[in-house]
Amino acid sequence: MTDTDTGTSRKAPPTATFTSRDPATGRPLADHPVHGPEDVAPAVERGRAAGARWAALPAARRRGHLLSWKRLLAAELDAVAASVAAETGKPLQDAELEVLLTLEHLSWAARNAGRVLRRRRVRTGLPASNQAASVVHRPLGVVGVIGPWNYPVYTPMGSIGYALAAGNAVVFKPSEYTPGTGVLLARLFDAAVPDFAGLFTVVTGAAETGAALAASGVDKLAFTGSPGTARKVMEVCARSLTPFLAECGGKDAVLVTADADLDAAADAVVWGALGNAGQTCAGVERVYAVRAVHAQLCDRVVERARLLRPGTGPDAAYGPMTMPGQSDVVRRHVDAALAAGAGAPLGDTDASASPEPSDSAKPPGGPFVAPVVLVDVPEDCPAMTEETFGPTVAINAVADVDEAVRRANASRYALGAAVFCGSRREGAAIASRLRAGAVSVNSVLGFAAVPALPFGGSGDSGFGRIHGAEGLRGFTAPQSVTVRRFAPPVDLTSFATPAAAKARAVALTRWLHTRR
Ligand code: NAD
Repeated sequence: MTDTDTGTSRKAPPTATFTSRDPATGRPLADHPVHGPEDVAPAVERGRAAGARWAALPAARRRGHLLSWKRLLAAELDAVAASVAAETGKPLQDAELEVLLTLEHLSWAARNAGRVLRRRRVRTGLPASNQAASVVHRPLGVVGVIGPWNYPVYTPMGSIGYALAAGNAVVFKPSEYTPGTGVLLARLFDAAVPDFAGLFTVVTGAAETGAALAASGVDKLAFTGSPGTARKVMEVCARSLTPFLAECGGKDAVLVTADADLDAAADAVVWGALGNAGQTCAGVERVYAVRAVHAQLCDRVVERARLLRPGTGPDAAYGPMTMPGQSDVVRRHVDAALAAGAGAPLGDTDASASPEPSDSAKPPGGPFVAPVVLVDVPEDCPAMTEETFGPTVAINAVADVDEAVRRANASRYALGAAVFCGSRREGAAIASRLRAGAVSVNSVLGFAAVPALPFGGSGDSGFGRIHGAEGLRGFTAPQSVTVRRFAPPVDLTSFATPAAAKARAVALTRWLHTRR
């Protein structure tokens, strides 16, 4: 085990530490300091100083520095992916894919921030025609980022990379399950951008450290995690009116029409539901298939899911539940669905009900959960209403697309969704009826690989956006500027203008507005 250095400037090292562990075995990985307010405050202070210099750079210089960081992350991909795999338990290939996607996003943010945020002239309208008007997006200062463990690089970097590209400093608190990955990101930043020590720092710890960051006076707090925690963090932010971004959970639905390619839909449902052991905010948790194809779709999903095994070896399709206790949540959701009359063509909790005990065993306990496919699940079961965050999927039959849309939209979550449909045009039309922040047609999670697309949800999935132009602008404050070019014929903002002239201006403007 090693003690890690997070790069925060402290007078005395904190005495308390916590241990990160391999979720598959419980084996200790490293000790990390528990940072409190006395550690967070100097990190924010250093960020403020470095951030002022960073914000003053021309956008092209910031782009150059961020691309250096991106190149170093690419060169160190093996180390970053190994850290992700060790701390989350996910297969190395999944970790590599996560880092690759992050590189695309960082590259896009670095290359596009100048264009998206630069000063833009706007029309003034008649009463202000003597003015030149423009709007520019200024950095906020220091952005606090609190991250989750399920994609410990890709997810927080949606805030970190975009906030830095927009000209801010960042203080990042990674999940207590994945602190080493956060520390590594900051270490590589310092190596790639040595002139800006303190611009991006990491503080480690659990809830108390996150609460200290939320209360530290940062200029925005970007949170990713569960809606319950979001409420607590937002409450702390509310005390100082610190702006807050909430990227929370999901209960994403896939809609399957009668003319959909069922093999493609089944393949995508299995990957979207079981990949990363189902621990994906925009993973597939519910499927609504029109009755005519429901049975066929279920057969094809089960056929594929049956072949997948959780584990740690090279044959494992996915790893353990990263968080101790999550297996119990999955079990509770599955048991409640079965008790309410749902079927389980795969993963029945009653092993005796199936002739193939090895395939149909109840989630075996411990951190590994075998795939579970549920059908005909009553809509009020937790498996349909709460985020399960496990390798399960519920596939229900619906009369038609209208019912599928209605049921998909009935969730208190609204993050992602997918539509499988024979016609791309019809699929896009269905997508526009869904209450979701992002929708993929004929794929799942298609939007996650497109950096130009904003990402985020509504309801219990949170608010605000990361990624894309909206994600960059979210880490800025728009500043509007007018420059008077010449004296107006009638100055409406002067006590010196005669009342009769003002009255003529009012009459003229009223006439113009009543014409159309
Ligand atoms: P969590 O809510 O338990 O923790 C998230 C972070 O908040 C962690 O860093 C944690 O230490 C910190 N935290 C906990 N209590 C806090 C408090 N009182 N004050 C300040 N910080 C506190 O979530 P998790 O288990 O780490 O992540 C899983 C959740 O994240 C799921 O709901 C998942 O859907 C969601 N998620 C959302 C997205 C998205 O982009 N919408 C992406 C990934 C994960």
